[in-house]
Amino acid sequence: MQNASDVTEITPSAGIDTSRHGWRAKCLQRLIRMDLPVPRSHAISVQAVQAIAAGQQVPTASLKGLFDSRDGLVSVRPSAVSPEWGGPGTVLNVGINDQVHARLAKRIGRDNADAIYLHFVQSYATNIARLDPDMFAQHGENALADALRCYRDEMDEDFPQDPYRQLAEVLRSMARAWDGPTARLLRQAKGAPAAASLGLVVQEMALAMGPGLSGSGTIQFIDSVTGMPRVTGRFRGQHHGGAVGKGAETLYLTCDDRGPSLENAAPDIFADLVRFGVAARERLREEMKIEFVVTEGRISIIDAARVQRSSRASVRIAVALAREGIIPPDEALMRVEPRALSDLLHYQVDPRAPREVVARGINASPGAATGRIVFNSATAQAAASRGEACVLVRRETVPEDIRGMHASVAVLTERGGTTSHAAVIARGLGLPCIVGSTGLGIDSRRRIMQVGGRTLREGDEITIDGTSGEVLAGAASLLEPALDDAFAQLMEWAGEAGGIGVRANADTVEDARTARRFHAQGIGLCRTEHMFFDDDRLPAMREMIFADTPEDRRLALERILPMQRKDLAALFQAMAGLPVTIRLFDPPLHEFLPHDREGLHELAESLDLPLSDVTRRVDALSEFNPMLGMRGVRLGITVPEIYDMQARAIFEATVDASRTGAPVVPEIMIPLVSAMREVELVKNRVDAVAAAVRNERHSDFTYRLGVMVETPRAALRAGDIAAHSAFLSFGTNDLTQMTYGLSRDDAGRFMGIYVGQGVYAEDPFHILDQDGVGELLLIGAQRAREQSPGITISVCGEHGGNPESIAFCHKAGFDYVSCSPFRVPVARLAGAQAAI
Ligand code: PEP
Ligand code: MG
Repeated sequence: MQNASDVTEITPSAGIDTSRHGWRAKCLQRLIRMDLPVPRSHAISVQAVQAIAAGQQVPTASLKGLFDSRDGLVSVRPSAVSPEWGGPGTVLNVGINDQVHARLAKRIGRDNADAIYLHFVQSYATNIARLDPDMFAQHGENALADALRCYRDEMDEDFPQDPYRQLAEVLRSMARAWDGPTARLLRQAKGAPAAASLGLVVQEMALAMGPGLSGSGTIQFIDSVTGMPRVTGRFRGQHHGGAVGKGAETLYLTCDDRGPSLENAAPDIFADLVRFGVAARERLREEMKIEFVVTEGRISIIDAARVQRSSRASVRIAVALAREGIIPPDEALMRVEPRALSDLLHYQVDPRAPREVVARGINASPGAATGRIVFNSATAQAAASRGEACVLVRRETVPEDIRGMHASVAVLTERGGTTSHAAVIARGLGLPCIVGSTGLGIDSRRRIMQVGGRTLREGDEITIDGTSGEVLAGAASLLEPALDDAFAQLMEWAGEAGGIGVRANADTVEDARTARRFHAQGIGLCRTEHMFFDDDRLPAMREMIFADTPEDRRLALERILPMQRKDLAALFQAMAGLPVTIRLFDPPLHEFLPHDREGLHELAESLDLPLSDVTRRVDALSEFNPMLGMRGVRLGITVPEIYDMQARAIFEATVDASRTGAPVVPEIMIPLVSAMREVELVKNRVDAVAAAVRNERHSDFTYRLGVMVETPRAALRAGDIAAHSAFLSFGTNDLTQMTYGLSRDDAGRFMGIYVGQGVYAEDPFHILDQDGVGELLLIGAQRAREQSPGITISVCGEHGGNPESIAFCHKAGFDYVSCSPFRVPVARLAGAQAAI
């Protein structure tokens, strides 16, 4: 500490500021300005703390007179620049020595004075002198004398009697603790910068032991889990700074709680606390938890901190503050973490309840559900038909598992990453899902799995916490979704704040309804192959893929056309005139081929072909690298009848839906494009089908044709491609896969290690890689706009629901993002925040 200005007494007019003295010092100053009874406090600046940590002397001269109060005790609390960053533990009762002890003994009794002195000797010996805590765990009558002796024996000196020396040692120890590697890692995990700094607050202690009503407590005015107004907290009589005195008792705060309460025992004190709380909430513009001490019936407010809160409480609190005019709506929007909203849409494990974690994986789809383990879709369907909740556990999922997923309340897989089949489908269905839980030893034939040394069987109950990625044993206590008025209000404000457009990735009418419930502005991606994932439809899709001759294919397509038309008309109707982007088929063939003998058998039966024929055809269609194989537009170019059929279904559905509902302008999107000529070829055929349908139906309609930019080449050639496109939508799942050369289905195996070692800052399938994939997005958008200034540009990969990626898209001036329906609220809030 170079000069006295490094230590500042906190008074209403003192120059205290958060960046120099930390949040706690600033908060105390605000309480003092409100005339609340805060004990005399001093702020030690972050520069001073740094100097102390670097070994400079602690010139206690600037704290002269600190110990002159009646009791002569002070506390030292951390005051980091942000409350989120934590800090070293508070040290209490600094200043106690034989003399103060004797004085206290007279006032509050010897036992109580002993308890306070002992508590300080213990904490000083272990935290500051770094002696073995076991040696100081004294109890009984001579505990204090024993602890003092033990200190002398170990340190070869008496316990320090000079309060300023005690204080200097405490300050040095706290300053150094902040610089320790563990503390650094912990706070950086909470978002603190590498150079995060710490201030300290030294405060005179009010005595919470003694005659009359004395004790310490906390009070808050909101329920931390629900966010509903409720006074909660505790008052502990005869508890002073960690020391427990004679006649100690714990009281509830209000009469509503079952048991003796402060409200009953001391109604005036309780009323004062409530008054202080209301004032603090208004002045600090936040729900605060207040720490207080009562000394012989007098209140001191010793600290206040932002109430810890669950996601749902964070929404309710922000909305309530804005509704009461304490903060503006924009600030309420900024105060809610967009990700928190997804917690509100689903059941959650009650954070207050015990949880027995048996396995962990990637949190692929949020929410929580409890059910009995099943290892295949048939058992899941059987359980659902009996009305039993079940959790589908698979090594990985394939299209046949969709029916099992529909019948389950949650999904758990051993393999896969954030964009694997199970993850994408579960998010679409709003099912809690954990993927890549590599520790599971699934033996689906014996219907058991080994997790962490224990065996779980079919029928055993587990809870999937898809929000945290934890598998819990048994039925955890769950909180209901909270789509309440506070949520609706926040969404309304988000809509008013503007920002980037948000559409939904929706394949079914149910998805579309969810999307509309959350005010999506349209459908940005309808994956048409997903419309064939259910049991009745899958055979038709397979027939088409398997067709060997043009005639077989024609028959298969004829079967598919009416299904496709009907589904699309229903989707258009559900969206009531909002834009709907239909992606032409993009079935990676491996997702539609059977994987085992049983599957081949089933397929042979459904196609009415000999097993050998089916096996031969499967072999012929098998690809070494299906994700880079006959997918997307490549299928459309090689077998053009397929896209012809789809174009026809889209236009006929357009005519049908426009007749009974709002006019429809379908948007047709071509997947996996890498060359301009692909677009030209498809466009010519789609235009021809449109002309034919107009003719046959004597009906006019328009449509927009666009391209999905999913290959690096398409991004680089976006200028050419834009010449034939009304819109471009970046499919960032494939674009990430191809830019990194990283399989989206297999990356889960080593992603944890890669992120852990800092090779990738984040999983790039989860958060857009702005430096690499992002650069392709910017290049693509710029080249497309140079060619066609009015072209619509969007993102429809999973990143469309990720707040950081949305901020990037907003900054790049994209028109909209499109994401799973259940992520629409998150995207809308993130979009609004980017715009504010
Ligand atoms: C993408 O690749 O980003 C995309 C949206 O398409 P899919 O996930 O269906 O491959
Ligand atoms: Mg794709």
